[in-house]
Amino acid sequence: MYRSIKNYDPDIYKFIRLEKERQNRFLELIASENFASPRVLAAMATPLNNKYAEGYPYKRYYGGCEYVDEIESICIDRVKKLFGAEHANVQPHSGTSANMAVYFAFLKPGDKLMGMDLTSGGHLSHGHPVSSSGRDFDVIRYGVSRENELLDYDEIFSIAEREKPKIIICGASAYPRFIDFKKFREIADSVGAILMADVAHTAGLIAAGIHPSPVPYCDVVTFTTHKTMRGPRGGIILCKEQYAKKIDKAVFPGVQGGPFMHVIAAKAIAFKEALDPSFTEYQKQVVKNCKELANELQKEGFRLVSGGTDIHLAQIDVKVKGLTGKLAEEILEEAGITVNKNTIPFDTEKPFIASGIRIGTPAVTTRGMKEKEMRKIAQFMIEVLANPDSEEIRYAIRKEVEDMCSAFPIYSDLLS
Ligand SMILES: *Cc1c(COP(=O)(O)O)cnc(C)c1O
Repeated sequence: MYRSIKNYDPDIYKFIRLEKERQNRFLELIASENFASPRVLAAMATPLNNKYAEGYPYKRYYGGCEYVDEIESICIDRVKKLFGAEHANVQPHSGTSANMAVYFAFLKPGDKLMGMDLTSGGHLSHGHPVSSSGRDFDVIRYGVSRENELLDYDEIFSIAEREKPKIIICGASAYPRFIDFKKFREIADSVGAILMADVAHTAGLIAAGIHPSPVPYCDVVTFTTHKTMRGPRGGIILCKEQYAKKIDKAVFPGVQGGPFMHVIAAKAIAFKEALDPSFTEYQKQVVKNCKELANELQKEGFRLVSGGTDIHLAQIDVKVKGLTGKLAEEILEEAGITVNKNTIPFDTEKPFIASGIRIGTPAVTTRGMKEKEMRKIAQFMIEVLANPDSEEIRYAIRKEVEDMCSAFPIYSDLLS
């Protein structure tokens, strides 16, 4: 299969191959990335790609859907079982697309939407001005407390009471702590708001039962399937039965056309993997690894936002070491360690510079790395960040990173 790309289009093949090798050679600490299994990848390179299936299983606008109907039904059943949800829509093309559909279902232009602000750890699609969610709705923001960088539920309650938003979003891209969904439910109830959780980051932990579940408390739950869920790129919406029709109509024809049946098949396979007990063990190791890595950095004098982490990601304040997030990201990359710069709460730097980096352990844990490797990675990072002017140290560390990665290979049989 890959040979046909190589023979026909060597220009593209070359870069696919180089990207695979980059993933193999580097330590991937970007919290939102992971390595989907080869069978998940394989499902996407099938003739399912060719099928138009607008509509939902057994109610389509196209003929020839008898097999894709079965695939989508299995996918829906598995994700409902995994999360104990009443209804699931498995068609969103991405996390952002899932969120847009929820807004389309419940809001009219100009309605009030309340979400966490970006610098505190929220996501662009929760009402940031550069996103359509920020243009079309009247956005109310909440953040974290200046004192301890944690969500301040009393403050969120008083903002909600004052503003009476139509929808409240909980969930974040860079909040290292558990979220109290029950508290959010109480707040939403007291102002009559729809409660939506966007657990794009923590869905895998929730599926494994090691993070509190939003499903019992929220009207709607959205997430991505490619982060801790370790599946194909895509989104999911779970909701209470009473909103099922509304949500389905909002996804199609509201904000999307034909579903990606090849991706839905890949989602179904990823959910089968997630229903296996080994997935719980994996997620537990992800969190153990993150705590180990974050603690080692903290011991060296880096500051952890909120003082620690409960989940698969941590936010590291590098300003306390005289660095910016941008510089830290660049020099770590040269040493073979991929992270992303990230603003920290009340950051005085612009997002493009930022005072922090976000680290996450889902990808390195998929490779089989454990606490011992985390301690080594922390040492690599500490050395690189302590010597921002030393190219020599970066090259030396890069060699060590490559040695370590070759002991935990990924995708070794693909494209070889
Ligand atoms: C990653 C993320 C998304 C967006 O997912 P895309 O698939 O990139 O659109 C949405 N919400 C949160 C909280 C995220 O972390």
